[in-house]
Amino acid sequence: MDVLARAHRLETAGRRVIHMEIGEPDFTAPPPVVEAAMRALRDGRSAYTPTLGLPELRQAIAGDYRRRFGVRVADSRIAVTAGASGGLLLLLALYVDPGDEMLVPDPGYPGYRHMVRAFEGMARPLPLSARTNFQPTLEMVRAAWRPRTRGLILGSPSNPTGTLIAAAELERIARFVSERRGVLIVDEIYQGLVYGDRPASALGLPGEVAVVNSFSKYFCMTGWRLGWVALPDSARMRELEKLAQHLFICAPSVAQHAALACFSDETLAILEGRRREFQRRRDFLVPALERAGFSVPAKPSGAFYVYAGCPGPRPDGRRFALGLLDREGVAATPGLDFGAHGTRGFVRFAYTRDLAELEAAAARLQRYCGGLRPRAAAPLPAARGARARPGPWPRTARSARRTPRRTSAAPSRSRRSAAGTRAGSGRRPRY
Ligand code: PLP
Repeated sequence: MDVLARAHRLETAGRRVIHMEIGEPDFTAPPPVVEAAMRALRDGRSAYTPTLGLPELRQAIAGDYRRRFGVRVADSRIAVTAGASGGLLLLLALYVDPGDEMLVPDPGYPGYRHMVRAFEGMARPLPLSARTNFQPTLEMVRAAWRPRTRGLILGSPSNPTGTLIAAAELERIARFVSERRGVLIVDEIYQGLVYGDRPASALGLPGEVAVVNSFSKYFCMTGWRLGWVALPDSARMRELEKLAQHLFICAPSVAQHAALACFSDETLAILEGRRREFQRRRDFLVPALERAGFSVPAKPSGAFYVYAGCPGPRPDGRRFALGLLDREGVAATPGLDFGAHGTRGFVRFAYTRDLAELEAAAARLQRYCGGLRPRAAAPLPAARGARARPGPWPRTARSARRTPRRTSAAPSRSRRSAAGTRAGSGRRPRY
């Protein structure tokens, strides 16, 4: 992930960067959760837990489905995992054999394809566009399904687009996948962060539907490494338990004890306030981007991302993002990080900054995009004034202006997908 590495280099050189490339809430864990964690530490509750998680946490998760989504799920179907990442790995270990093909959304969360490959499966991109709200349809899945296809992964709300799949379409897909004896993995990590629409869950749909979720995003606990999976029935849980035992032993125990406080009325009220704040930010950012010349062909209804087409003819999102970072100190993620289908001209903005920072970012975006327009059309006085300003973006480090050299010797096919874990950045990508 060139942009993140470069942003950190710029910061080291003394520039302040507005980080809109990071898929991580700017809120920390709610205070009742922090207090519960401290209590757990003081009481020495740091030993291994049962592999599938604390029974009371599994019950609390099941209870939350009942309360918030009206879905009845037995706690025996729920396994607590090390984040959604741990959950996805376990599900893929469970379902994917070497040579199996999994359909993955393109654009979509890059982790899916890497994880499928980790189990010697083949991740086949399902090309998505704004025409279907960047979500798969039954027709697409049917057309893409081949004898070696084992299943489909989809995210709703999606990263990077923030779009949701319609409940009826999801059900039609679930029925089709079930007829083909396949598995449908639905990543609901952004489920609580939905604006306008009522959040729904794929739990309860017919067939082999497995759901992944996490405490990372809605509960603002990214580094606590806690998530869960819900299996279609309890029958496969023993297999999953064995895998989890060997791969992870258990999810972090202090985090599990703390997470029991996630479902209290007090915590849920705090989280609801944060959800509304994210909605305010989205409502500010989408029109601000459009005013600056971006297109937002599918309006995001969830998560904290805007997937925006860069201004201009045949835009290059990667060049755009690097230029934006160098010139204006605003970091965004190039669409290419999320796949190959029509992603080149896009960038993803995360509204994981407060409104004041988003306003500052919007002003800089406006100025940067103005500077990209043909000279005659550019608002020259404003652009000149902005450049001449001593301002917070002194163009200090000469090196910051240089195009980064590739440091990886990896073959070109893996270059893009390996970006971000490449040696040299010293940081993990945070999508
Ligand atoms: N799924 C999606 C769509 C994500 O965006 C992320 C992280 O950004 C993950 C899964 C992994 O999340 P975690 O392992 O922190 O729960």
